[in-house]
Amino acid sequence: MAARLLLRTSVRAVTACRLAPVASFTRGMAAGGVPTDEEQATGLEKDIMRAWKKGNDPYSIFKPKEYAGSKQDPHIVPSVTHQRMVGCVCEEDNTAVVWFWLHAGDAQRCPSCGAHYQLVAHELPH
Ligand SMILES: [Zn+2]
Repeated sequence: MAARLLLRTSVRAVTACRLAPVASFTRGMAAGGVPTDEEQATGLEKDIMRAWKKGNDPYSIFKPKEYAGSKQDPHIVPSVTHQRMVGCVCEEDNTAVVWFWLHAGDAQRCPSCGAHYQLVAHELPH
């Protein structure tokens, strides 16, 4: 909002004074207005934006999906190795976390509540 107000004010000032516009000002306006975030992004930020458009989440930024935890719909645990330590808060109000190792292969059950967890291979984006 403040940027638009500043832009309008500067446009009015330039047109009222009939001065030659500044070079950087004309570049943004020549392209049709203020550049978008995608047009300004470079490097890693640009790679992340491309991945989001494809529906990918290479850096686990999105909220994880929710699973039922049953044998047919186990909690999916991504891992770059063949095992991973998993903490299960068995019930919503529990203050203790049950920790156990999850190994590659079939789904495993939490030793306390019996919820199913499945380890899946995950490759790092770089
Ligand atoms: Zn549990």
